[in-house]
Amino acid sequence: MSENLVQHLLQAFDGISRCIQTQLTRFILRSDQPPASAHKDSPLTSLSSHSVGVFHPEILQKQKTSGPTTKEDLGRATWTFLHTLAAQYPEKPTRQQKKDVKELMAILSRMYPCKECADHFREVLIATPVQAGSHEEFSHWLCHVHNVVNRSLGKLTFPCERVDARWGKLECEHRACDLQGSASMDVTDAAHYRR
Ligand code: FAD
Repeated sequence: MSENLVQHLLQAFDGISRCIQTQLTRFILRSDQPPASAHKDSPLTSLSSHSVGVFHPEILQKQKTSGPTTKEDLGRATWTFLHTLAAQYPEKPTRQQKKDVKELMAILSRMYPCKECADHFREVLIATPVQAGSHEEFSHWLCHVHNVVNRSLGKLTFPCERVDARWGKLECEHRACDLQGSASMDVTDAAHYRR
């Protein structure tokens, strides 16, 4: 095969791939009209209250469509997960929930995919063991350890008395986003864990 022919083929593939990318982007942007309530929803609640896999244009614009995840992206996503978990953590957690949340933090301090961060977080956990006796205890403990990380990175600290205002529960119909084992499931859980 001559070099010219190879070049032509590569150009053709490049053209086709660009065309597919353009059409897909148009299709996603056009097919997803945000629901009437979307303007008051945060991106997180928008995502949670509608089907997974449907993107809103404003979310699409905020998210990178390609390229590697940075340490900062990963950190923000992980803190979002953790603070949302804390927001939904029950006033009266079951024994299993308290155990799970402590294990989760321990696992995070070993498996977090940034060694420097994981090593530091392990030290933070030793100095400040997880407090998960209630929603308030856990969300304030988490706010405190997040501030320890903030300080170590030279960032401003967050006023922990405002943590509930910053991080709300997910808004899902029929309590579909309740934490596993919460409220109505307590009785069953209690029976299960007595076994
Ligand atoms: P983030 O710190 O990611 O916070 C996200 C949002 O949370 C903020 O915009 C703010 O609204 C809110 N917030 C801030 N502080 C608090 C608080 N105390 N309580 C409640 N809400 C708050 N990066 C490193 O470079 N080195 C590390 O050693 C390191 N360790 C990490 C350990 C863990 C367990 C995690 C999850 C992340 C770690 N990171 C580390 C990442 C780092 O913490 C940040 O996530 C990243 O630098 C992006 O920071 P940000 O300023 O966008 O906001």
